[in-house]
Amino acid sequence: QRCLTFIKTAKCLNAYITVTEEKALKQAKEADKRYRRGQPLGHLDGVPIAVKDNFSTAGIETTCASKMLKGYIPPYNATMVQKLLDQGAVLMGKTNLDEFAMGSGSTDSIFGPVKNPWSYSRHYRKKLVPSRQLETEDSNWLVTGGSSGGSAAAVSSGTCYAALGSDTGGSTRNPAAHCGVVGLKPTYGLLSRHGLIPLVNSMDVPGILTRSVDDAAIVLGTLAGHDSKDATTVQDQFQSFELPEEIDVSKLCIGIPREYHASGLSRETVALWSRAADLFETAGAKVIEVSLPHTGYSIVCYHVLCNSEVASNMARFDGLEYGHRCEIDYSTEALYAASRREGFNDVVRGRILSGNYFLLKENYEKYFTKAQKVRRLIANDFLQVFSSDVDILLTPTTLSDAAPYVEFIKEDNRTRSAQEDIFTQSVNMAGLPAVTVPAALSDRGLPLGLQFIGRAFCEQQLLMAAKWFE
Ligand code: GLN
Repeated sequence: QRCLTFIKTAKCLNAYITVTEEKALKQAKEADKRYRRGQPLGHLDGVPIAVKDNFSTAGIETTCASKMLKGYIPPYNATMVQKLLDQGAVLMGKTNLDEFAMGSGSTDSIFGPVKNPWSYSRHYRKKLVPSRQLETEDSNWLVTGGSSGGSAAAVSSGTCYAALGSDTGGSTRNPAAHCGVVGLKPTYGLLSRHGLIPLVNSMDVPGILTRSVDDAAIVLGTLAGHDSKDATTVQDQFQSFELPEEIDVSKLCIGIPREYHASGLSRETVALWSRAADLFETAGAKVIEVSLPHTGYSIVCYHVLCNSEVASNMARFDGLEYGHRCEIDYSTEALYAASRREGFNDVVRGRILSGNYFLLKENYEKYFTKAQKVRRLIANDFLQVFSSDVDILLTPTTLSDAAPYVEFIKEDNRTRSAQEDIFTQSVNMAGLPAVTVPAALSDRGLPLGLQFIGRAFCEQQLLMAAKWFE
């Protein structure tokens, strides 16, 4: 009930596309009865959660924030959604995102941009110097980062305890950092993608957004494991990921990647990063500088691979089999073209075009195959580091704190993704787990996150380091 009230008071954030109020109340009542009988369904019985609107939800509209899927009501639940419901979680609604999860601001949605709850925090308001105040007070509002900005804002504003996001190049970690919450991107293959509408199949993973590392570990425990409907999930059985109260980091070796001293990194982020390294060192951990030499290629490599997979994935939305259908009926080709022109925004259309270009017979070797080779080199950099002493890598999550909307939209989507995802994308290309935790407030009074990257399937160790730091 309280979360529903928060959803109403925080409506101006535009975090939710659909609020499932009636269903939520019914679910909550049932959970309450079970609780009183002492028979909870599972760890999450009665816990309010939200789900990004690119996860299929049976009987609930699933739009990917695109006109293409507006009105689409899936007949089944994504495995992640089903697992949450099986544990008794209460679904509050579906959260806003960049269209088809392409973006890093949650500003490119047909439902309008998501506002960062921190735009209204006293710290930030107090620090707005008069010259920065734009015409109306409200035009100073900040973006959430993206593409899972709705989920991050939903958790950050107290409308739910946990939310599902997706992470292909940073979409869970980036908004989590900007909204001051924890954002976990699990190892590729640990969580099922069944029912998550694909962006880049070889990099997509469901992400978890919560207010604490402990919460993230609990949710991860309920979601992890093999799914016969997703052949890329691993067969191993996973125990719970719950974390001990006392954590000893003195045996850890923390690597600081030299190449992550990127241009555009804010002074305060650098300071925070080195303070964090010092903290680990003081606690007895070994902190060493490491090298990931192919980092510089990751943005361009991601761009080629992402757009190529996008071109192929989006082909299904033709207005006949799937998606928005326009009025034109004089030829099938014209119908395809017009439906896709009307249904997709220009970011999606741009990626489809460039992806198809990379996949042309005469370009395939030059771009796609080459990018796959570079991806291997990027993944090998991590393997090499983790096969030495290093257990965890410590990096910034974003270059700086959240940008005001008016400044953010000055750059186009592609340039922004190229800048914003610099610390996150290579992790997806390597398939590794990573988590961002809120680490400090910037000079403007806004949250800054730090990212921990771990060995594949070593989430427990990764989360322990993150919890110790939290
Ligand atoms: N910003 C990246 C992109 O636009 C990442 C998106 C994501 O992780 N879903 O592709």
